[in-house]
Order: sequence, then structure tokens, then C-alpha cells
Amino acid sequence: MKGLTIIKTEHPKAKPQKGEKLGFGSVFTDHMLIMEYDKGQGWHDARIVPFGPISLSPASTVLHYAQETFEGMKAYRAEDGRVLLFRPEENFKRLNVSNERLCIPQMDVGFCVESLKELVMLEKDWIPSDPGASLYLRPMVIGNESRLGVKEADSYIYMVLCSPSGAYYESGLKPVPIYVEEEYVRAVRGGTGFAKTGGNYASSMRAQEIAHEKGYSQVLWLDGVERKYVGEVGAMNIFFVIDGEVVTPELDGTILSGITRKSIIEMLRSDGYKVTERKIEIREVADAYDRGHLSEIFGTGTAAVISPVGELKWGDKVMVVNNREIGPVSAYAYKKLTDIQWGRVPDPLGWSVEIGHM
Ligand SMILES: *Cc1c(COP(=O)(O)O)cnc(C)c1O
Repeated sequence: MKGLTIIKTEHPKAKPQKGEKLGFGSVFTDHMLIMEYDKGQGWHDARIVPFGPISLSPASTVLHYAQETFEGMKAYRAEDGRVLLFRPEENFKRLNVSNERLCIPQMDVGFCVESLKELVMLEKDWIPSDPGASLYLRPMVIGNESRLGVKEADSYIYMVLCSPSGAYYESGLKPVPIYVEEEYVRAVRGGTGFAKTGGNYASSMRAQEIAHEKGYSQVLWLDGVERKYVGEVGAMNIFFVIDGEVVTPELDGTILSGITRKSIIEMLRSDGYKVTERKIEIREVADAYDRGHLSEIFGTGTAAVISPVGELKWGDKVMVVNNREIGPVSAYAYKKLTDIQWGRVPDPLGWSVEIGHM
């Protein structure tokens, strides 16, 4: 590919075996993609190189002021050996949205997609074939200038890491308990909630840690001003099924615009479901529960695809949703979307992109 140099490793690692427990994001492939930006020069020197440590000045701006953005996507291996990506342009368009918010230079979406394809095909033997497993892809950009002054950097590094990852739910889709976070907030309007940036995660870890201690898997964030409206969950957007209608918080600048969220909305609508994006008060959810009209809650995100919520705790109120079982809308959306992503069914919407063959 023009503008991309490839330097192959001389020490390829052993690939994970079929059936091996992979977990998430702890094993990395032989290669990574790297490209630099310098003021006056633009993005330059895109190359695929052996995976390994990078060297930064201890004064590198990202280490002090967290000027960083990232993406999360997957490469899938179809049963017939096709290698597939899911709506990859969407990820790089969103990376540019995040970049703009963090004063990071814009990137060429076409180049990012094409160079990613080269990297994935070079690493194709790393794409696991176990059910639900995939090659997780982590594009990221960091500000990298050796300077302690608070200002956007003049230099950046773009990298893409590849990590073979197991099925999110090893024993099948399982409803999780979550609680409504009332002390901490994740984002406010005007902040960085809509950008995929590490700082959002740094500020959410305290709540996440407490949730784990209490036996919950995640927290449901409320808006940071009135503590009244539902936002999102961890690294997932949230959906409610109330009176047969699927409702999800509107994109108000405080939540991440999930590509899974967008795909589920488009897919359910085209299949005749009523799907509404609007403000949702947590009180409305509790009222619907009391009236017996709340039939399902589920989260959406690349990692889990769909994560049904079996219990929602708000203060002293414990809402057990659908008997802690997977509801029909969650099950339908999960099957249909994963069938498209793993190339098991025709894809009339053109979301699945074939990039090569094993
Ligand atoms: C990545 C992410 C999501 C999910 O986005 P997808 O594109 O569906 O993977 C949701 N919320 C947050 C905070 C995220 O970082």
C-alpha cells in the first residue's frame, strides 16, 4: 500500500491455540501500526513494525495532561475463512470527532481504514476461531511533546494494537447487575463525554471500583447537573424496553456515540420496532418498573455487543428486570447483529466489510 512501510518481525510468537482462554486485551500480536505527526509536516512515516515498547520523554505531554484519544473495534473470522471488519469508517470518523475535541490533528479516514486492513491481514493468523472470539483492534493517538507547559502538543503518535480476545461472555449471554451512580459523575455538557478519551475512564474508575466491591458489574451514570437523566454505562450505551417501545438516551454531548448503539437503532427500526432517542429520567424507569411496563434493559458496545441488565439498583430500590433472564429484544438484537458481524447471514445493510481470506 502506498505510504505504508512494513517491517516484519524476525521472532514471531506462538499464536493462541483453539480453545485457549484468551480473556480481553492482554495478549498482543506480532506487529503494530505506527505513524507520527509533526507540526508543519503533518502525518508521516506510517509503518507496520514488530510490536514492542515505545520510548517517550518523561515530560511527554500525554503523561501529564492526558491529550489522548482511542477507538475500539474488531476483526472477525467467518466460518468460510473470510476476514471481516464491521463499519470501520465509522470508528475513524468518530476518532476525528474525539481528536477535534482534544485539539489533536485530523486524520485521513480512508488511509486509516486501508492501513488497518493491511495490519489485520498481516496478523490474520491471530484472529481466533472460537465462537464469539475476535481480534480486538485498538487505534489510539497520543500528544507527545517534551514540555510541561499546558498547551496542545506539536507532535503526536498514532498507533494500532491488535489483541486476540475471547468471547465477552464465555458461558453465553448473561444478564448483569448494575446500580445507578448518585455520588460521582462521568461527564457534563460542554465536557468530553462524547469523545473517546482516556480521561473519561480515569475519572470513572473510582465508581467502578466501588461497584465491584458491592458485587455490581457496572454503574449507570446520570447527568452531571440535575442527577436526573440516564446517560450510559461504563463502556456501553443503554437501552430500555418500556411498553414495547425501545428507548435510549439522545446524543446530548455527554454520552459516547456508540457504533453498536447506532447499528442497533437502525436495525431494530428497519425490522419494525419502535425506537426512540430522547431524554429519560431515572424516575421514569422506576415508575415503568412499578407499573410492570419495564420489560428489558440492555447495554450496547463493541466488546460485549449486547449486555442484558438483570438488576438495576437505584438508592434502596432494587429492580429485577425480566426475572434476570435475557429478554426477547436483547436476544433478537444480539443474534442478528453478531450473525452479521461474523458473516453468518447476508448483510443487506453493507455493514460487514470483507478485507481478505485466511
Ligand atoms: C466505546 C464506548 C462505547 C461503545 O461504543 P461502540 O462504538 O458501540 O463500541 C460506549 N460508551 C463509552 C464511554 C465508550 O467509550
